[in-house]
Amino acid sequence: MSAVSQEELNVYKSAEARFEIAAQKLGLEDGLYRYLKYPSKEITVYIPVPLDTGRLEVFIGYRVLHSTIRGPGKGGIRFAPDVSLDEVRALATWMTWKCAVVNIPFGGAKGGVICDPGKLSKTELERITRRYTAELSEWFGPERDVPAPDIGTNEQTMAWVMDTYAMHVRQATTAVVTGKPLELGGSQGRKEATGRGLMICCNNALAKLKMKREGCRVIIQGFGNVGSQAAILMHEAGYKIIGIADIHGGLYNEKGFDIPKVIDWVYGQRKPLPEFPGGGAKMTAQEVLFHPCDILVPAATENQITTQNAGRVDCKILCEGANGPTTSHADSIIEDKGIFIVPDILGNAGGVTVSYFEWVQDRQGFFWRENEVNERLQDVMDHSFEQVVRFAETHRVNNRIAAYIVAIDRVARALRLRGIYA
Ligand code: NAD
Repeated sequence: MSAVSQEELNVYKSAEARFEIAAQKLGLEDGLYRYLKYPSKEITVYIPVPLDTGRLEVFIGYRVLHSTIRGPGKGGIRFAPDVSLDEVRALATWMTWKCAVVNIPFGGAKGGVICDPGKLSKTELERITRRYTAELSEWFGPERDVPAPDIGTNEQTMAWVMDTYAMHVRQATTAVVTGKPLELGGSQGRKEATGRGLMICCNNALAKLKMKREGCRVIIQGFGNVGSQAAILMHEAGYKIIGIADIHGGLYNEKGFDIPKVIDWVYGQRKPLPEFPGGGAKMTAQEVLFHPCDILVPAATENQITTQNAGRVDCKILCEGANGPTTSHADSIIEDKGIFIVPDILGNAGGVTVSYFEWVQDRQGFFWRENEVNERLQDVMDHSFEQVVRFAETHRVNNRIAAYIVAIDRVARALRLRGIYA
């Protein structure tokens, strides 16, 4: 079998390919097509940071604002060694479509710094975060561009972003960033939100396909914020989690894992996931994707399902937790297998939806109870799922293209009303 081409692995090209199909089916005007295809602004920052050894290192960071047509830019900051401008562009573009699919008043943005958080101390990460934020202090703002956590960043990172921004503008501004600790204006339910949104989509997909939840076999790749929260919530709801994986490797056990024990193993005892003593066959993190299951949830990173391996995917529902886990080239293989897809821009939109709730609460200075947050999230996800699936059925397209069409149509309508400032 031939190797996957670099072109297939370019996530920006993947995002573009779906946009192109959807825009064509929607009959988007040529000018608007060109307007929405490209990001609105991109910046590269070179961040000088003294390491703990005293050596001065320079890290490269990016922020891409794809669109502010429907509201301020919104999107995470990723710290990872393989961050690239094309990846950040793709993620920013997906944020525009994601916010539009769930109809929240944000545009799309994303940021990243090329660094390996696993090899940096907490103080080094703090210095990188603060200098990155300081360089972008004129871009960020509750009405301009609102960051959030992504791979390699967390609540603590967001607290540093908030503090640095506050020092620059000389006032506490909690709404400049979401995914913050509760003590600093974070929202109840934000930590679980992406996993909860994924579960809500799975519940809806099961109802649609007339499948039972009890004992429904699930494989989840990625055991970070998204994967571990999805695993625990789905386990509690009666799903049987038979496959799990993180960057260190995968485990498969057809009897199902005791997820609270796995969480204690990985997060309480800080032990490697593949060494979990509760049973299960060890394998690579990718191999776990190809075992038979009812629902497959890739919740780790991009480009996991490609033309080279999509034929081996053996599930009824593919619910995407990560951004871009399936390459655009592999879409038709998955479709031909009759797999029901919940695309990333819908499947993982629970996170940005509760980020929106956090931003609203910060601006109101009034905070909601956890069950209020969860009920509102449920409403948004149920409604968005229903709209995408109905659109797919009436227009005879797959769920992914339907989600893009719903999103592009919303952004294009807003753009036509605003007009082009010239
Ligand atoms: P995270 O850093 O908390 O966790 C990532 C997990 O994936 C870790 O368990 C890591 O070990 C694992 N992993 C990394 N590379 C892997 C590989 N090659 N094979 C198997 N496992 C691998 O990140 P996260 O916040 O959980 O984000 C995961 C994905 O979900 C990303 O694509 C992110 O963009 C997307 N996402 C996150 C959120 C959010 O709210 N955090 C919201 C929407 C989408």
